[in-house]
Amino acid sequence: MCSVIAVDAKHDVLVVGAGCAGMRAAIAAFDAGADVAMLSKLHPTRSHSGAAEGGINAALGNASEDDPESHAFDTVKGSDYLGDQDAIEVLCNEAPGDVYELENWGAVFSRTEDGRIAQRPFGAAGAPRTAYAADITGHVLVQVLYEQVVKREIRTYEEFFAWKLVVEDDRCQGVLAWDLLNGGLHAIGAKTVILATGGAGRLYVGTTNAYACTGDGMALALRVGVPLKDMEMMQFHPTTLSPTGVLITEGCRGEGAHLLNADGERFLKRYAPNAMELASRDVISRAEQTEIDEGRGVDGNVLLDLRHLGAERILERLHGTRELSMVFAGVDPIHDPIPVRPGSHYHMGGVDTDMWGQTELTGLYAAGEVACISVHGANRLGGNALMETITFGRRAGAHAADWALSHTTVTVPEGVVSDAERELKVLLDRVEGERPWQIRDTLAQTMHENFGVFRREDQMLRQGEIVEALRERYEQVVVEDKGNVFNSDLTQALELGFLLELAACMVDSGLARKESRGAHARPHDYPDRDDENYLRHTLVTWDGDRPALDWRPVTMTKWQPQERTY
Ligand SMILES: Cc1cc2nc3c(=O)[nH]c(=O)nc-3n(C[C@H](O)[C@H](O)[C@H](O)COP(=O)(O)OP(=O)(O)OC[C@H]3O[C@@H](n4cnc5c(N)ncnc54)[C@H](O)[C@@H]3O)c2cc1C
Repeated sequence: MCSVIAVDAKHDVLVVGAGCAGMRAAIAAFDAGADVAMLSKLHPTRSHSGAAEGGINAALGNASEDDPESHAFDTVKGSDYLGDQDAIEVLCNEAPGDVYELENWGAVFSRTEDGRIAQRPFGAAGAPRTAYAADITGHVLVQVLYEQVVKREIRTYEEFFAWKLVVEDDRCQGVLAWDLLNGGLHAIGAKTVILATGGAGRLYVGTTNAYACTGDGMALALRVGVPLKDMEMMQFHPTTLSPTGVLITEGCRGEGAHLLNADGERFLKRYAPNAMELASRDVISRAEQTEIDEGRGVDGNVLLDLRHLGAERILERLHGTRELSMVFAGVDPIHDPIPVRPGSHYHMGGVDTDMWGQTELTGLYAAGEVACISVHGANRLGGNALMETITFGRRAGAHAADWALSHTTVTVPEGVVSDAERELKVLLDRVEGERPWQIRDTLAQTMHENFGVFRREDQMLRQGEIVEALRERYEQVVVEDKGNVFNSDLTQALELGFLLELAACMVDSGLARKESRGAHARPHDYPDRDDENYLRHTLVTWDGDRPALDWRPVTMTKWQPQERTY
């Protein structure tokens, strides 16, 4: 069974995070013969992957003709040509096999009349390519993967919070983690560590992301000198429920829902006349925000209309969406349109890795939303994130296991725990200062205002100053709870430290990219894409007390940049 058996242990592979990416990585490492463990601040089935609704993309060709090359082209175009095409080809070629493997493990995908896996249309996809389990796809995948983890008796350090990476001899050799249940810091050594800690949507108010999505793995990597890539690329999902930010799946538009402004107009005909509601997310979010900003919104929202789909179809395929709308907005979509607006949803940026999940630091890997390989470039297509967690989780797990099995030693230096305990004591001993939540709220509100769907130079400069000031205030943050058992006051303070550094990286990367591409829209000063100067990734490292910026060319294989219209 999965249980916390021992701490201060050593493993071949230690996976930090137990969502779809982490569990798929752990399964692959186990199957390659490694001694593998997972460590997670949440129970695996509570990981945010479980919230994924709409589906997972693979060119199975069950709904109409399709092939991996079309999937790859749609992904390249969707990325606004910032995605690395070699990695995109790997994703699209390997996706069908990975989806069939999930099916063989018991994933209950929705079916066609003749019993094959059903596929629905999703934004910016040339064919209905998104396999789904009604609108609870993530929940189904998490349960299936967890079953495989349990079957293999993979050790899981449940409710352990990874706070630092152990680096010795220029290799990552483990993790320092806080035991949430009992308190106390522990060093867990490993020949390889895979970060699978998910995204950082909590940098914003009005996000679709859970409270735990605080970008921890990105900050852990940054703190040991590993670059983060394309950090300015935060995706705003066009249909987040007002006022909470809960996601209303793209599957609604896949099933034929319309977006309306205050005049009842399907306004997308003026922004994406061919694809309409199935244009890419960045295009639709900008269209919505423009309608709202120009006074054609409804109380700061636009309306998602499902009524013409009929009660039967809504109840069969979108029952979760109906329930969310009724519970969180008091709206039954069978009878009334749902108020929606753009909200922060997915970080295309993350830890810079190659196609096997390897980072610049020997022994350290990353997979899933924490990583930037990059298959999503400047804009992710709906359904490609779950696929990335599975395909690249598997690849990272296999590679990390191979590396670990051909190297013998793990060294966790003496004193690494006591040094960290002293650092923690300074924080816990402080009694005067500011509570973390005020800083966290200000950060999330101002990121929303100044680094949102549209970005302006002056707003980004102001946000840089705000983040700097918040980082100074953070130096005096006070943790009131001094206890050991489930001290969420402490972990939230540590998470806030991560978020502040990531925000600084995002703003600096955004200022450096003087063009509009995908999620990075600067209509006032740099309205156009500039392939001559910016067809390249931003890379950011931490230099003393500030982000330091660098660039990396985009890898092109078959597709030259074209004008991107839908
Ligand atoms: C509401 C919603 C719906 C979505 N729907 C879709 C969809 O239909 N299709 C699609 O392709 N994509 C979808 N996405 C995106 C996709 O679900 C995510 O990108 C993906 O599931 C992330 O998986 P992950 O394994 O990388 O991270 P997560 O599932 O977020 O898992 C992160 C893990 O890391 C652990 N962790 C984090 N920090 C620490 C730490 N410091 N110490 C220890 N453990 C830590 C957590 O406990 C957790 O186990 C959706 C996203 C949202 C928010």
